[in-house]
Amino acid sequence: MGEIQVATTASCVAALFGFLGIDADRRQTAGTALLTRACLDQLVRLFGDEAGRPAATLLMDWTAEVCTATADDRRGGAHPVPQRGPSVDGARWDRLSLAGSETSTTDPGYLAGAMDAASRATAEVLQRIAVPGRAA
Ligand SMILES: Cc1cc2nc3c(=O)[nH]c(=O)nc-3n(C[C@H](O)[C@H](O)[C@H](O)COP(=O)(O)OP(=O)(O)OC[C@H]3O[C@@H](n4cnc5c(N)ncnc54)[C@H](O)[C@@H]3O)c2cc1C
Repeated sequence: MGEIQVATTASCVAALFGFLGIDADRRQTAGTALLTRACLDQLVRLFGDEAGRPAATLLMDWTAEVCTATADDRRGGAHPVPQRGPSVDGARWDRLSLAGSETSTTDPGYLAGAMDAASRATAEVLQRIAVPGRAA
């Protein structure tokens, strides 16, 4: 894991979360069992033997998610950079607003970008539903 974060739930069930630092091809070749073992070994090195006996483990490879992943997702990539122009254009513009952080033109992929994108999407929706003569 290239990065490990605390993921303890709101009801105080202790958990750790990590991003794997290897590409999709190597993840597929290694398989879930080997990857999970490697992650547990890393946690033991960092936190001691108890970390090697978790109540549960879950490995999610989004490049293998059948409903949303495309071949392009296997290439991974760097952190998103701000895109020029709108996320939605053409005939869909007046019906669809994307509010995810990745659509931010200032800080995509960050919390600040989530606020920026949500503000823009909210303004778009308010503009669409505005009734002439009534303040939004
Ligand atoms: C482990 C981790 C650490 C991070 N650390 C940082 C950091 O230190 N600093 C920083 O700036 N950013 C950090 N980020 C990135 C930041 O958290 C995200 O960029 C930001 O939360 C994205 O916000 P969002 O509103 O676009 O999407 P999300 O926060 O993902 O919100 C989307 C919401 O939509 C809901 N949803 C999904 N599908 C449906 C559906 N069909 N129906 C209804 N609801 C649905 C989801 O449950 C979720 O609540 C981190 C992200 C992760 C995963």
